[in-house]
Amino acid sequence: MQYLEQHIDITYLSNYKTPATARWYFEISSQQELGKIFEIIQWAQSKDLKILWISWGTNMLFAFDEYEGVVIKNSLTGWDYNKESKILKTFWSESIWMIAEKLENVYCQDLWHRFIWLPGSVAGAVYWNAGCFGLEIENNFVSCEVLDLENGQVSTLLKNDMNFKYRDSILKQERKYFIISAIFDLSKKVEKYHSDIDNIDFRENKQPKGNSCWSFFKNPSRDISAWFLIEKVWLKWHKIWGAYFSDKHANFLMHDGHGTYKDMLQLIDVAQEKVEKEFWIKIENEVQIITNKK
Ligand SMILES: Cc1cc2nc3c(=O)[nH]c(=O)nc-3n(C[C@H](O)[C@H](O)[C@H](O)COP(=O)(O)OP(=O)(O)OC[C@H]3O[C@@H](n4cnc5c(N)ncnc54)[C@H](O)[C@@H]3O)c2cc1C
Repeated sequence: MQYLEQHIDITYLSNYKTPATARWYFEISSQQELGKIFEIIQWAQSKDLKILWISWGTNMLFAFDEYEGVVIKNSLTGWDYNKESKILKTFWSESIWMIAEKLENVYCQDLWHRFIWLPGSVAGAVYWNAGCFGLEIENNFVSCEVLDLENGQVSTLLKNDMNFKYRDSILKQERKYFIISAIFDLSKKVEKYHSDIDNIDFRENKQPKGNSCWSFFKNPSRDISAWFLIEKVWLKWHKIWGAYFSDKHANFLMHDGHGTYKDMLQLIDVAQEKVEKEFWIKIENEVQIITNKK
């Protein structure tokens, strides 16, 4: 396939930065290339190859040495904010944090203040309905333009079509849409709950720094946090080769930059086994583990 590069290093495309390559690779950075995406998808399907979309890679652990399918890196940026209507339109790979910061500093629009320092792209945030400190992506969401991977048509999904839930949306449930752009109405403040936490101080001073994708395991329930269980089985700051749980927050799975995905999987297994043995609770990953399995 003419557009695709081969055996490309993709280590830095996941926030864990464990060494990895892609058998086939394509980077899309303009709207004109959307047609190529559909061609690539059809080609991949004819060869029974998997496809992995990556925007900023802040929510995925590569569990392979080489991804045997096609990796498509989304790099289309650009956004526009209308001061009068307070409508924001943005392309998929734009950083949600940068937009939030600029809205505040340039347009005196602080509705997305909570998203300052939230890593990842608009696409990634819409995909799993990212949220923090009472603000969720669905709150001001109006619509998104998507490429339907089954028929190659571009269409619009409205908020009602999105089936937004806690860290979930139709994009995650059906995995057949590629987000091109999204529209948000920032004229009204909508919060899920009010929080007094200073998000910038929290991100700067209380959140672990390094190669991580935020909380690795889902909290088993509202009352039981995954970090608490990991602490209780003495795994906080526990290290297996290059993988460890942070001493600042036990649910932050970290990579020290010198290990491999195998260290990460080993530590994940140990945590799951110990928590199940001690508490009879099966903790599940929140971060996506990407494998070559079909
Ligand atoms: C330090 C840190 C702190 C964080 N804090 C929070 C927090 O407070 N709250 C919260 O909710 N999250 C938090 N996160 C998680 C982060 O917000 C999400 O990981 C982010 O929204 C994902 O965006 P991304 O661009 O990195 O997506 P990626 O990791 O690149 O992709 C995520 C998923 O979206 C899919 N995808 C990517 N692009 C497209 C596209 N164009 N169309 C369709 N599917 C696509 C991918 O295939 C993948 O399945 C944190 C992460 C880190 C590292």
